[in-house]
Amino acid sequence: MTRIGIIGAGQLGQMLGYAGQRLGVECIFLDPADNPPAAAVGPVLKFPFDSEQGLAQLAGEVDVITYEFENVPVNAVRRLPDGTSVYPPPRALEFAQDRLAEKNLFRRLSIPVPGFRAVDSAEDLHNASHELGLPIVLKTRRLGYDGKGQRFVRNQEEFDASVEELGATDLIAEQWVDFDFEVSAIGARNASGEVIHYPLSQNEHRNGILHVSRAPVEYAALQETATDYLERLMHELEYVGVLALELFVKGDSLLANEFAPRVHNSGHWTIEGAQTSQFENHLRAILNLPPGPTEMTATAGMLNLIGTMPEDRTSFENPPCFLHDYGKEPRPGRKLGHVTVVASDAAERDEILGKLAKLLNP
Ligand code: AMP
Repeated sequence: MTRIGIIGAGQLGQMLGYAGQRLGVECIFLDPADNPPAAAVGPVLKFPFDSEQGLAQLAGEVDVITYEFENVPVNAVRRLPDGTSVYPPPRALEFAQDRLAEKNLFRRLSIPVPGFRAVDSAEDLHNASHELGLPIVLKTRRLGYDGKGQRFVRNQEEFDASVEELGATDLIAEQWVDFDFEVSAIGARNASGEVIHYPLSQNEHRNGILHVSRAPVEYAALQETATDYLERLMHELEYVGVLALELFVKGDSLLANEFAPRVHNSGHWTIEGAQTSQFENHLRAILNLPPGPTEMTATAGMLNLIGTMPEDRTSFENPPCFLHDYGKEPRPGRKLGHVTVVASDAAERDEILGKLAKLLNP
């Protein structure tokens, strides 16, 4: 039986594991956590992510290694025994882990981005706020996610508070974009170079965390442009696996925010809403199998369940709603599950999503 090693055993690993079961491949995980979500779908080697021993053991047991989060230590992955196949390529990880390198890559590929400046001193920060004009968004270059390590700066007070919180080195200052809405483009490429794309998702964030995704986005021109940007990245990085690109939409133009070299929260709706899920297509890509079709079965929406799970699940788990419980301990701000809604049209989908959101937050 084909075996896949997955670094990280969170909910993305769990959903990859379920896709593996459908494909008839076994997934083995590496994660230091006690009883992580993916333990429900396969064995977990309990080691730190950068443990040479753990990674060597994983490499010895599997045919190919992948990962489910982008802060996997790149050096550890590079030190894997010779001949170990690792996808997506570690180079993609390197760019995704450093917001400055990532933005410079977008620029080099002529993918438009908000204005930005590297900040390594209080003087840089002062200059950046003058050159870009307030408001700006200040982000740590590394290890930020879900809006963490990030401050909006609108005035002197916030300027001082952000220096206090984030310091003034290893940061990136970005122009604040008054976007119309946010979208993500998700696609996959296998080692033979076959590429597929999903319809764009429109994403709504709350407190920096994804709240709702809706697909498809009915603007053909946006889809075409986003697909082009995603393919530029795939080509440049000799990419293999699922790649997600988050973009701001302003009028007819798209500005790249960041990319994730992995399956993405805004693509969870593909499990029920598309002919082949992003999880299966990731596994197909890294195994160099032909990609599965990505056509949607109807319109789809996804609501994240954050902090608490619904007490009465009836409205959440009966079609056209599909409840996913990751089996995690509830904690404020923690992604515990999601619900996907598949409906024949956007109005019906949005009505159901609205009802579910109200049940969660009466
Ligand atoms: P990030 O961690 O970069 O994905 O940012 C999280 C969220 O913060 C984004 O999805 C946006 O909603 C918001 N955000 C980040 N950067 C900017 C920006 N330059 N302008 C406006 N909003 C932003």
